[in-house]
Amino acid sequence: MFKGSFLYSIFNNKCPRCHNGDFFIDHNPYHLRHMSGMYKVCPKCGQPYELEPWFYYGAMYVSYAVSVFISLATAAIVFFIFKVGLLPGVILSCGMPFLFYPLIFRWSRLIWINVFVKYRKPTTP
Ligand SMILES: [Zn+2]
Repeated sequence: MFKGSFLYSIFNNKCPRCHNGDFFIDHNPYHLRHMSGMYKVCPKCGQPYELEPWFYYGAMYVSYAVSVFISLATAAIVFFIFKVGLLPGVILSCGMPFLFYPLIFRWSRLIWINVFVKYRKPTTP
């Protein structure tokens, strides 16, 4: 993923506008105590991260879609490749979104802000 692509911002925890400043304060999403700690503005370019009050309410829909995708992908893998039984397959595919919850939380917020804030190449002074 190269700089300038929204995927770079999503998977590298970077500001959607400049791709240089961090989005979440702690880089490891599995430090659960600091999982949701975000900067108010980008430390590099000053882009506000909360565009309006309750902005990340919409990220909930993205989170749902990502969770369903992970669940279905897990179901496809365990049923068609590993050919496990029905009960372990259902437990695995339903449990996988819980295992990935910290990542899903962060990806959904980053996807949501990337919908509204586009990358701008930094101008040279
Ligand atoms: Zn920035």
